[in-house]
Amino acid sequence: AAKAGGDRQRRYDPGLDDEADAEARLGAELRAALDTGQFRLVYQPIVSLPDARIVAVEALIRWHHPGRGLVNPADFIPVAERNGLIVELGAWILTTACAQAVTWQRTHGAAAPARVSVNVSARQLAEPGFADVVAHTLAGTGLPAHHLIVEVTETAVFGGGQSVQTVKDLHQLGVRIALDDFGTGHSSLGLLHTVPVDVLKVDKSFVDTITMAGRHAVIATALIQVADGLGLSAVAEGVETAEQAAELCRLGYRLAQGYHFGRPVAEPDFHGVRTAVAG
Ligand code: C2E
Ligand code: CA
Ligand code: CA
Ligand code: CA
Repeated sequence: AAKAGGDRQRRYDPGLDDEADAEARLGAELRAALDTGQFRLVYQPIVSLPDARIVAVEALIRWHHPGRGLVNPADFIPVAERNGLIVELGAWILTTACAQAVTWQRTHGAAAPARVSVNVSARQLAEPGFADVVAHTLAGTGLPAHHLIVEVTETAVFGGGQSVQTVKDLHQLGVRIALDDFGTGHSSLGLLHTVPVDVLKVDKSFVDTITMAGRHAVIATALIQVADGLGLSAVAEGVETAEQAAELCRLGYRLAQGYHFGRPVAEPDFHGVRTAVAG
């Protein structure tokens, strides 16, 4: 049996080989995409409840591949994480989002949201000097530190390296820290003792069920109580219907994000009237 096992291990495995090839190919394409400007950022409104006023936007990356068309971040961010390109790509994302927020403030004045929220991956956060990169980007673009929100997951904060210290350094700079996908396996209560957090982003999965019959609003209710109790803001993610918005409002949520209020777009309509909350 031991011999057979050994044979199996040595046998050529076309499946794994193909996967490694595909990953390497995608990695090379990502490099080229960064060099030739195939990435764009889109921005999704984060609104206040119940008046649906835009108070911030979350920057989300899009890859317009010349052959494949639009590639989802879920299909390439993990690859960029593994091959390390996320460090350079992340720096581009940060600079582009901060510069855009400053431009909107100049062109739309008070109608434009003061704050921009940027997703930061585990690899970026673990990189020594990341807080310096952020400080440099703020100085270079002219965005005040308190207008930047950095979105991290618990997995990223506990990813090793400098991550925990970096979150503390960012907070010290005046940057706001948002805990993404809060309530899922990626984020939990223990982290709140370890790093300074300003915003809890309550995962879509808890919003999806709140208008269903039964006890489904229990977690969404518990999470807003945690946020209120600790003096943190809570953003309900993935709000798709007026009914969900109304229910969140009733539960005490004052911030929300989702297709009901606006999809991620290159240029959100800061002057438009949004549907607030169903009566
Ligand atoms: P996330 O940070 O949790 O972002 C929220 C995702 O939910 C986005 O998907 C957004 O388009 C989507 N979404 C927003 N509202 C709704 C809704 O009402 N219904 C539904 N079904 N979906 C909604 P997206 O843009 O495809 O991004 C997926 C994930 O990729 C993000 O999850 C984030 O983890 C990662 N990502 C996106 N952009 C960046 C980036 O610039 N840097 C890094 N490091 N990661 C990014
Ligand atoms: Ca996010
Ligand atoms: Ca999220
Ligand atoms: Ca997510």
